[in-house]
Amino acid sequence: MLQINNLSERINKHKSEISGAVARVINSGWVVLGPEVKRFEQEFAQYIEARHCISLANGTDAIELALRAMGVSEGDTVATVANAGMYTTTALLAIGASPYFMDVDTATHNVTLQEVEKALSFGVSAVVVTHLYGLAVTEIESIASLCSKKGVALLEDCAQAHGARINGRRVGSFGTAASFSFYPTKNLGALGDGGAVITNSDQVAQKVQGLRQYGWSSKYKVELGNARNSRLDEIQAAILLEFLPGLDACNSLRRNIAKTYCVEINNANVTCDQVNDDSYVAHLFVVRSMQRNSLREHLKSAGIASDIHYPIPDYQQPVFKDEYKSLHLKNTAQLSQEILTLPCYPEMTHIQVEQVVHAVNTWKP
Ligand SMILES: *Cc1c(COP(=O)(O)O)cnc(C)c1O
Repeated sequence: MLQINNLSERINKHKSEISGAVARVINSGWVVLGPEVKRFEQEFAQYIEARHCISLANGTDAIELALRAMGVSEGDTVATVANAGMYTTTALLAIGASPYFMDVDTATHNVTLQEVEKALSFGVSAVVVTHLYGLAVTEIESIASLCSKKGVALLEDCAQAHGARINGRRVGSFGTAASFSFYPTKNLGALGDGGAVITNSDQVAQKVQGLRQYGWSSKYKVELGNARNSRLDEIQAAILLEFLPGLDACNSLRRNIAKTYCVEINNANVTCDQVNDDSYVAHLFVVRSMQRNSLREHLKSAGIASDIHYPIPDYQQPVFKDEYKSLHLKNTAQLSQEILTLPCYPEMTHIQVEQVVHAVNTWKP
């Protein structure tokens, strides 16, 4: 079965770098918050072209701690999309804040300036935008200046978009802060969990640094409430340092696969939304079809796995019971019924890409 991504191929390809990184940490005897973490934070901040990187245990903590550091607290309302896998909403629930759900554009699957304007006039205390599937939010620059003009904090969730560039800048450098995940299958992935907050604000950086380690302002002196232990370990940081220099090249390989799909997939019942520039790092390649379940079955019988990212809009999740019963986000709801994710990862061979194209093109609903 051809999977939608393949971690063991990635590990095999980089076995010696990975082993070298792990050996470096073992030999140093320093396993938590040591030189590898420090160097990774410096290099990743430099890569995004932002002032600070604070590494954390995972991407969901990154969202939560960034929001807390930006001043979001219990009882606040925060704008977010409902088609991005519930991660931001989970972080909001942990804080005790309420989500205000924004709709998305059907072609980009991303939020628009107009939806952010609506949220701001509703009176949200912060906005989270997600660069979904690896595609930079087209209007991120205008969204950032609008939020800044209104004095509302903006968090960019970049967990699927490491390295995407728009208007000459990397995503993660536009908002008040940005959250990243280094979960193994992300564009920049560790061999375990990891995450980070990126920010140009000294104040937000200092706060996240305190929140990730018991609320300490200095050793054993607890100044901040709502803190925790959320640290990236040295082994994961060392592995990420091996992968970071190859990130742009891996993103190009992903983009080339997506480009081949867009050019060669030719089926009246399948829509590909084409993006060919570096605002897209092809974390996931997602097509749309009115009969996606039939397409999914057809692919399965051809030995090709597919997946749905994501099948349930946040506001329809069982955790909310009837709370959002009257909410209907037209595009979000429609997309959740039509989207299908095809295999797309840097180690995929041209023959495998052609296999997928052939299977999609020969499908009749
Ligand atoms: C993966 C992901 C996260 C969460 O990251 P974890 O490291 O798994 O906690 C957040 N947002 C988006 C959009 C993601 O894809």
